[in-house]
Amino acid sequence: MDTRAFKRSLHSSENYHRKGFGHGEAVNQQLQGEYQSSLIQQIRANGYRWQEGDVTIRLAEAFGFCWGVERAVALAYETRTHFPTERIWITNEIIHNPSVNERLRQMAVEFIPVVNGAKDFSEVRQGDVVILPAFGASVQEMQLLNERGCTIVDTTCPWVSKVWHSVEKHKKVSFTSIIHGKYNHEETIATSSFAGTYLIVLNLEEARYVCDYILKGGDREAFMAKFAKACSTGFDPERDLVRVGIANQTTMLKGETEQIGKLFERTMIQKYGPDRLNEHFMSFNTICDATQERQDAMLNLVKEPLDLMVVIGGYNSSNTTHLQEIAIEHGIPSYHIDSADRIGPGNRIQHKPLHQNVTVTENWLPNRPLTIGITSGASTPDKVVEEVLNKIFALRSLAAVS
Ligand code: SF4
Repeated sequence: MDTRAFKRSLHSSENYHRKGFGHGEAVNQQLQGEYQSSLIQQIRANGYRWQEGDVTIRLAEAFGFCWGVERAVALAYETRTHFPTERIWITNEIIHNPSVNERLRQMAVEFIPVVNGAKDFSEVRQGDVVILPAFGASVQEMQLLNERGCTIVDTTCPWVSKVWHSVEKHKKVSFTSIIHGKYNHEETIATSSFAGTYLIVLNLEEARYVCDYILKGGDREAFMAKFAKACSTGFDPERDLVRVGIANQTTMLKGETEQIGKLFERTMIQKYGPDRLNEHFMSFNTICDATQERQDAMLNLVKEPLDLMVVIGGYNSSNTTHLQEIAIEHGIPSYHIDSADRIGPGNRIQHKPLHQNVTVTENWLPNRPLTIGITSGASTPDKVVEEVLNKIFALRSLAAVS
């Protein structure tokens, strides 16, 4: 499918919107009231440091809502204002934050149901309004909604669209897109739908496996079994790993994406020689600034003497998980929670250890003076961070009187 031609035609349709509807000011005020926090503003103004009793809070210097998320949420609110009576759907969570998604539900925005692991669009009718979330939607979904005569409000972050342009450039010159991402993440599903031939690698280890295969060959069946869910239909490792371009899910670990790009570049130099690199390798910088800033801020924060970290964000949020990985790599006990409700009653916390199910830890706050590092993913409103801090302060003051 010529995805570029499809997008051009969609973008010129009167049923397609990707800018606001002129209600920006009113919506911004509403968003500030619902999601901003005066406490967090004070802590920012105080050099990202705050003390209450024997607890010192150290906030990462970049955390929380990124502009792409703010823009998507604002567009969704504007859509409700602009279409007060129409049935409004969203193809997935607008962003990976439970409180924001719940708020949209209260505004009568419906989520496309998932039946037996697949989205069920059967209830979506002509004239319905459908919002595409910040991490985009697959080209097949866009096509279906367009053909059904829906009004489409596209909140896809421009950083994500930039990755789509990259894979389309690979496709144009018959390069295979190597996508650093999670094959079942909505953003990567959307990105791969714009690619031609593609292979998704989760991490450096998988990238090394692929590069070894390029250099030395290997067991084709084992290769296909390993990437069965992570490659385009009809993928052939002998034929499709000769010319590769690098792309990424925007929220992966920045350093790892760079290492993967360099690894493939070195591999192609080794295999074909430096003079022929351009015939076999291409790469565009598509790491999103917000992801980069949050990861850099976290890398600075973990250099400080912290007793523990609380990482706040949706459990299915890729960028939040990567922030937690940084804490773990630096040997700091960390607790990933998605809301303040996970703390208590008493000195207990319900949290999600990396790559494990949610679990409960008792006595998670040691009874001594503590320095606690705090960060939050790009989908987490400041209000949620404030609620977490207030829970921690309340817990400590209870401990002090008991
Ligand atoms: S994290 Fe980056 S790519 Fe994702 S919504 Fe925010 S700005 Fe856009």
